Amino acid sequence: MSLDINKLLRENIRTLKPYSSARDEFSGEAAVFLDANENPYNSPWNRYPDPRQLTLKKRVGEIKNIPITKIFLGNGSDEPIDLLFRAFCEPGKDNIVSINPTYGMYRVAADINNVAVNLIPLSVDFELYAEEVLTAVTTETKIIFLCSPNNPSGNALDNNEMIRIIKSFNGLVVVDEAYIDFCPEKSLLPVISQYPNLVILQTFSKAWGMAGLRLGMAFASEQIIDVLSRIKYPYNLSILTQQKAMELLADDTQKEKWVAIILNERERMIELLKAYPFVLKVYSTDANFVLVKTHDPRGIYQYLVNEKIIIRDRSSVSLCEGCLRISIGSPEENTKLIEALNRLV
Ligand SMILES: *Cc1c(COP(=O)(O)O)cnc(C)c1O
Repeated sequence: MSLDINKLLRENIRTLKPYSSARDEFSGEAAVFLDANENPYNSPWNRYPDPRQLTLKKRVGEIKNIPITKIFLGNGSDEPIDLLFRAFCEPGKDNIVSINPTYGMYRVAADINNVAVNLIPLSVDFELYAEEVLTAVTTETKIIFLCSPNNPSGNALDNNEMIRIIKSFNGLVVVDEAYIDFCPEKSLLPVISQYPNLVILQTFSKAWGMAGLRLGMAFASEQIIDVLSRIKYPYNLSILTQQKAMELLADDTQKEKWVAIILNERERMIELLKAYPFVLKVYSTDANFVLVKTHDPRGIYQYLVNEKIIIRDRSSVSLCEGCLRISIGSPEENTKLIEALNRLV
């Protein structure tokens, strides 16, 4: 399939002349910076951050084994999601297709950008069928949003079905891999260069334990990454975020240790949760949370709130009748949840 990114872009974005910051126009070593109206005092916070985030991108490129020209870094994954709408979807005209249930942010970003959303139900076991998604595509469909492992169901979608969609669709396919560190073997990142219309989103908010930093990643062809870089706020990542992330990414063995503990705890929690009489089903999961079907989601949720334990009531979500979504915490936190549930039966 040949994809003309320029044809897919909104007209105003295609012809955009981006803001050029002082630090964009100069490259090299300088001793005196009198170009950006900064205050000479209060170093290092007085200086604008690197708008190209080169140091951090190099590190991310090493970790992910991908050239920096295919990496976009944003203020969480939320930023590239919004930028994709702003670049490719004409408000009041274009639409996107996604799955149901899935992460709520695609719809919110679509609503903010006045872009219509067509949600295609997954199967009752939250499986993806490429044909059903492709059938929903119209000439105005610019982006298909998939999420694997999917939130709130927890399961990874079938890679072959996703590839079928990527190969058949003449627009962008975004695969949100926010939870992929819990099942790295299922990532589509190794094949990203084969598909010019594929955008993969990942984040440092989950397995890496940096939700408070606000640091998300988009991986795609150089053409798509160029577009996102041209329309982002020039200084979308602060000095604090860039420096702290570099510090925390120096040691990537820590993440592996956390993932191992969380996966171990996940299996323990699944076995314990299955045994309660009020639990009808524990769905299989590839992420750091489990979806649990119960007789009385609201009652259990409220009981746990009174016990100062907060989980997520997803029972009003499509295909999630009776369901609670429970994140896997530390062994101590998980044990507190189990002790509270033991007092309920
Ligand atoms: C948590 C989550 C994210 C992460 O968003 P950030 O803005 O990077 O914190 C992205 N997608 C899904 C599906 C999530 O559940």
